[in-house]
Amino acid sequence: MISRGLVWDIETSPILGYTWGIWEQNVIEVVEDYKVLSVAWQWVGEKKVHCLGQDDMPGFIPGVNDDKELMERIWVLLDEADYAVAHNGDQFDVKKVNARFLVHGMMPPSPYKQIDTKKIAKRVAGFTSNRLKDLARDLNVNQKGDPGGFATWKGCMAGEPQAWKRMKKYNRQDIPPLMDLYLQFRAWDKQGIAMNTIEGKPDKCPKCGVGVMWPKMKYRATNSNLYQYYRCADCGGTAKSRVAEPKPKNERNMYVS
Ligand SMILES: [Zn+2]
Repeated sequence: MISRGLVWDIETSPILGYTWGIWEQNVIEVVEDYKVLSVAWQWVGEKKVHCLGQDDMPGFIPGVNDDKELMERIWVLLDEADYAVAHNGDQFDVKKVNARFLVHGMMPPSPYKQIDTKKIAKRVAGFTSNRLKDLARDLNVNQKGDPGGFATWKGCMAGEPQAWKRMKKYNRQDIPPLMDLYLQFRAWDKQGIAMNTIEGKPDKCPKCGVGVMWPKMKYRATNSNLYQYYRCADCGGTAKSRVAEPKPKNERNMYVS
């Protein structure tokens, strides 16, 4: 693999605020905004799932919710990535970390292609639920862990080592199903990146970047040309030839109108 594909997920803290009641209330004042608590990730093509929390940072003080050092670590990951895969990442993970980067006065990471598995699921299929947990169950891939309820978040805020441990365990457990989902969706996604280009292998499959393409499929006709469809021997994805590839002579029209 030449390209660096980051499969990632973050956990954030709740927003602390004042209200006058408990039912359908407006927050009067935000006391403490959300922070990033932990990040879990795996590089495409690598086996190891990583996870870092605020509590792993050298300057960590139990009970103090400070994500400065963690954001610096997340920045490095995104800066290194050619593409970054997250579930609902366009709406959540990317925007949340960008806000935190800005709050800490950091530069934008160098550009990476955002891949949102939730968007792919919505685009290509009609699943009853597009939540990672439900998709993992429906597609029989690695299951997503149970975050253990609000007590885990509260425990982290209070600086309890057990809660931090639990938070990172659940954060980490989201990565294998996300990786599986991404690899399965890749063949279906028509708006994905040209993996063969970024892998420097133009003769290989554009969906996965490694598979050999077999020209055993139908043709697509435009008014003047015919293009052949190929299927990848590895991921099963399909692609069309970039240049016109004529059918065998006896199948071509002798005349055009
Ligand atoms: Zn492929």
